[in-house]
Amino acid sequence: MMHNFIISRFYKKIGLLSNIRTVRGAYCPLFFIINFILMLVCMGEVTGSKEGCCIVYAAEKGAGEVSEETTENVSASDEAGNEPSEENSDIVVVIDPGHGGKNLGGQYEDYTEKEMTLIVANAMKEELEKYEGITVYLTRTGDKDMDLDERCEYAQSVGADFLFCLHFNLSEHHTLFGAETWISAYGEQYSRGYAFANIEIGLLEDLGLYSRGIKTRLNEKNEDYYGIIRHSTERNMPCALIEHCHLDQENDKPFYDHKEKLEDFGRLDAEAVAKYYGLKSDILGKDYRGYEKIDVAIPTHVMRPDKTEPDVCIIELVEQNKKSGDVTLRVSAADYDSGMLYYTYSYDGGVTFSELQRWPDKTRDTFEFTFKVPSGIVPQVMVNAYNGYDLYTTSNSLNLASTSYDMASDTDETTDFQDEENDGNDSQSSADALETTGHALSKKDYEEISYHSQKESEEKKPVTMVYFIKVCLIGAIIVLAMMWSILIAVRHNKKKRRRRKGK
Ligand SMILES: [Zn+2]
Repeated sequence: MMHNFIISRFYKKIGLLSNIRTVRGAYCPLFFIINFILMLVCMGEVTGSKEGCCIVYAAEKGAGEVSEETTENVSASDEAGNEPSEENSDIVVVIDPGHGGKNLGGQYEDYTEKEMTLIVANAMKEELEKYEGITVYLTRTGDKDMDLDERCEYAQSVGADFLFCLHFNLSEHHTLFGAETWISAYGEQYSRGYAFANIEIGLLEDLGLYSRGIKTRLNEKNEDYYGIIRHSTERNMPCALIEHCHLDQENDKPFYDHKEKLEDFGRLDAEAVAKYYGLKSDILGKDYRGYEKIDVAIPTHVMRPDKTEPDVCIIELVEQNKKSGDVTLRVSAADYDSGMLYYTYSYDGGVTFSELQRWPDKTRDTFEFTFKVPSGIVPQVMVNAYNGYDLYTTSNSLNLASTSYDMASDTDETTDFQDEENDGNDSQSSADALETTGHALSKKDYEEISYHSQKESEEKKPVTMVYFIKVCLIGAIIVLAMMWSILIAVRHNKKKRRRRKGK
């Protein structure tokens, strides 16, 4: 037996055992141990494999994150070329352009997050430096991958009063849109984070973006979920993670499709910081010294995220126009934790739904809207109402009378199904639109749909071909080795028995 022979020779050679027969006696347990070690090594290879796992978001892993690519040993300040000055009485802020290097961040069409965040960060720094009494650092100025703790450590080393993390979002089905800011759920970090985020989100809304709110998120250990916020909180440093908008969504595209627009984001972020700290700039002719930011009391308890669906969602029929197919509904929905965010509607009993629509007025629980039902079907209408954490509640359903109207004049094939101010003239069959857009939406989709949420939550690794083959091979080797060992053990025992019989 070749294998047996090789192993025997090996042990003989290393002088562990001098006699082949002794080798066979010691062989089985030894071989088991070797197999076991081999298995552990292989498992390490699989789990520690960087090839084929999602390195893109490695820097945003949740608790217990692994430091990747820190071998360069270049401190952020060296890289950024902005050494901390000792006798600085200025406000010190650190801007963190999300991702970098191998860690691309979100990617969609021609857009790569790590490049976008750097453009925004540079513009933000340049703008902020036009104000008096502030010193600004960047965690990275080049295309460099840094882990999250390293970024926070750098911020702390320069004495940061605040860390601003710049990001762009992406959702699994490219359906979510709008801007949001994530902050710590704890104490002073929450209070300061919220006061800043309130200014930031206000400015983004003024720009025309839809606000997805100011939110907290916790991991299973009840720590801040996002690594950069968690590590900042550990250092008593306020931190705000700004998701400017979704880089994979048509609603948001007009805000990031040019370099100048990204630079506008940077200037907007700078303005939010200037307002937060009440800064003045003669160069810009801006004076925010009298600016009154909201006063957020330091919470005595953890500011937990909303984990429950909206409390109620009811629809009533206001009007059905059988000539035009228009149906007007009154929607009443409420969520006392995180407020209302989006709604979708269906006229086929919930088989398909429209794309997400903005909640018309977040201060109100009730609103009316009109949509078109295609000719010739018996509509069964219902609405899904989403809260600030993308959880939804389905309304009651209403069975309406069939409508039959002339669709001959409907030639516009590009009806924007998302347009809630649908004027009723561009009535390309909504059914067509629903077929292409509706089925992407399910409850599961929206529970954890935010891209950053996904990438941090489970550290899920996409199974690539190489990874798959590797796992198969290792599995096969382990099984074969085990079978071999068992075979040897059985043979060994048989021989022993035969020898005994022979005696
Ligand atoms: Zn990001």
